[in-house]
Amino acid sequence: EVVVNRIAAGEIIQRPANALKELLENSLDAKSSHIQVHVKSGGLKLMQIQDNGTGIRREDLEIVCERFTTSKLAKFEDLSQIATFGFRGEALASISHVAHLTIQTKTAQERCGYKATYADGRLQGQAKPCAGNQGTIITIEDLFYNMPQRRQALKSPTDEFQKLSDVLAKYAVHNPHVGFTLRKQGEAQPSLKTPVASSREENIRIIYGAGISKELLHFSHTDEVYKFEVECLLTQVNYSAKRSQMLLFINQRLVESPALKCAVDAVYATYLPRGHHPFVYMSLRLPPQNLDVNVHPTKHEVHFLYQDEIVERLKEQVEAQLLGSNA
Ligand code: ADP
Ligand code: MG
Repeated sequence: EVVVNRIAAGEIIQRPANALKELLENSLDAKSSHIQVHVKSGGLKLMQIQDNGTGIRREDLEIVCERFTTSKLAKFEDLSQIATFGFRGEALASISHVAHLTIQTKTAQERCGYKATYADGRLQGQAKPCAGNQGTIITIEDLFYNMPQRRQALKSPTDEFQKLSDVLAKYAVHNPHVGFTLRKQGEAQPSLKTPVASSREENIRIIYGAGISKELLHFSHTDEVYKFEVECLLTQVNYSAKRSQMLLFINQRLVESPALKCAVDAVYATYLPRGHHPFVYMSLRLPPQNLDVNVHPTKHEVHFLYQDEIVERLKEQVEAQLLGSNA
């Protein structure tokens, strides 16, 4: 059974960046205003996420790493929203099957914190009292120590670090009210740092730097017919190493939509100066029941109801913005 669970877990957590994405979402769900990430060897040796969120109650430490254990069902009005991303309560469980996992946490109600280690979905021994501030520190060590083939199939620590940094950067742009820090073991300066109570524009400039054009176009739109809301920032980058960038969030989750990216790139093609690439941040809200539930969670590729129509509308909006700024 352990082996079957491990294989299933390895499907959900395929590389350090998948684990980071899940942990960032947990910290954000816990209403953190500061999230600090510390990594060694591209997250393969060590990945530690510290937040100042609500913390986990002591009694919940017994069960947080059991599959399908979640404290988040109550806030979904609609069961289909749980099905949407198909794997509620699987992230910590999965990580505990493919790495050494330690959780240190303290809630506002408890006088001291607790530290617990997990293996294969189970708490090892008991949670031990410890000092600490409110919030949670999740430590993942030796990812895929028990899956040598998966480990070998991964890219170099440098490439894995790049993917971690990419995920963190996108969440930082999407959540400007939260301060994010990413540190590499042994380096004095953080690789990435955003202030608390920043703005999306500011974070884009901080993170993506000098190659970003001065002008950032912003639009938001509510569509009554196809029932979506969109918030969008458009600009361009001129460094040649980067290709077209799309930061797409649907219902607060970082996803990919090849259809949408393709459409947006096509619109840009007419307006871009030579050597420039599109840079697009888009946050889309859809009725949860309109998202395709049959897409495997690790693919991050989504499909949704009225996709062609919605993509067409978004394309028109982007075009109107780019046209307006060129006129
Ligand atoms: P899910 O997020 O789908 O509920 P996870 O496996 O990611 O499932 O997390 C399990 C549970 O652990 C969460 O429902 C939450 O109660 C708790 N949890 C995980 N990370 C944190 C955190 N950083 N702060 C507070 N609670 C957390
Ligand atoms: Mg989660």
